[in-house]
Amino acid sequence: MNTTTTPVQTPIIRSRAVERIVRGQPTSDGDGVKLTRVLTQPLQKRLDPFLMLDAFGSDAASDYIGGFPSHPHRGFETVTIMLEGRMRHQDSVGNVGLLEPGSVQWMTAGRGIIHSEMPEQEEGRMAGFQLWVNLAARDKMTAPAYRDVAPADVPALALGNGVRLRVIAGSALGVAGAVTRPTTEPLVLDITLPAGQTFDAALPAGHNAFVYVYGGGAVDVGGDAPTRVDSERMAVLANDAQADGVRLTADAALAHPARVLLVAGAPLNEPIAQYGPFVMNTTAQIHEAVADFQRGALAG
Ligand code: FE
Repeated sequence: MNTTTTPVQTPIIRSRAVERIVRGQPTSDGDGVKLTRVLTQPLQKRLDPFLMLDAFGSDAASDYIGGFPSHPHRGFETVTIMLEGRMRHQDSVGNVGLLEPGSVQWMTAGRGIIHSEMPEQEEGRMAGFQLWVNLAARDKMTAPAYRDVAPADVPALALGNGVRLRVIAGSALGVAGAVTRPTTEPLVLDITLPAGQTFDAALPAGHNAFVYVYGGGAVDVGGDAPTRVDSERMAVLANDAQADGVRLTADAALAHPARVLLVAGAPLNEPIAQYGPFVMNTTAQIHEAVADFQRGALAG
């Protein structure tokens, strides 16, 4: 069910400011898939519970055709947001799913899963995001789980000023998103902001938050003295106990609406130990994960 409604926007009282702007790092992952790592390891503490954000987008098949062959995960959740193109997911638990434009895949790796994500196209554009959300220490060894959200099942809101929202996780303007998760309470909004238009997003004061402008052009982020955030830049939002959200205003001169991903969540404040696709709390747990993988114990 796709709930397209016209809710009334509630202005926030005080906006968070931009603490810093981050330019992603071009890299490759899987079998040579070119991507931009926007949220990198040095930002994991600051943006707890988020561990990684990759943005991918290319018209050249050579940039994505290798896909992400079989690989393991343990200790966190992966969220794949497809904008364009098709990928086929298969995992050791027996799940098979097609990621298509507008769909979202939410995978809880928990104690272990082995999966692959391979392109189901040989040409054309492939674009989207993968966000990693940490699990609390007590949940890291939970059973793996997987959910495909079809495009029509991502609640879509159209506001009177032309702003459109897709509520991927959490809730916005009283509308629950496709996914709600306990503990880290992630908010993931995909926002389309026409030139000169404003959207006020409510954010819990204690949650860490960032925006990533991924298309259209610059967005002014903040209240009285906003900071201009250009396309393909992430803005880390300052934690301000007095602020009740963030104000986003698209540059008035844009030819196309700005596209923004807004992400926020409750920090876990626990130690982070990462080795590639394993994210635990201690080095001993990482060694255990590697050993479990080597003896075939991560396959569901
Ligand atoms: Fe993966």
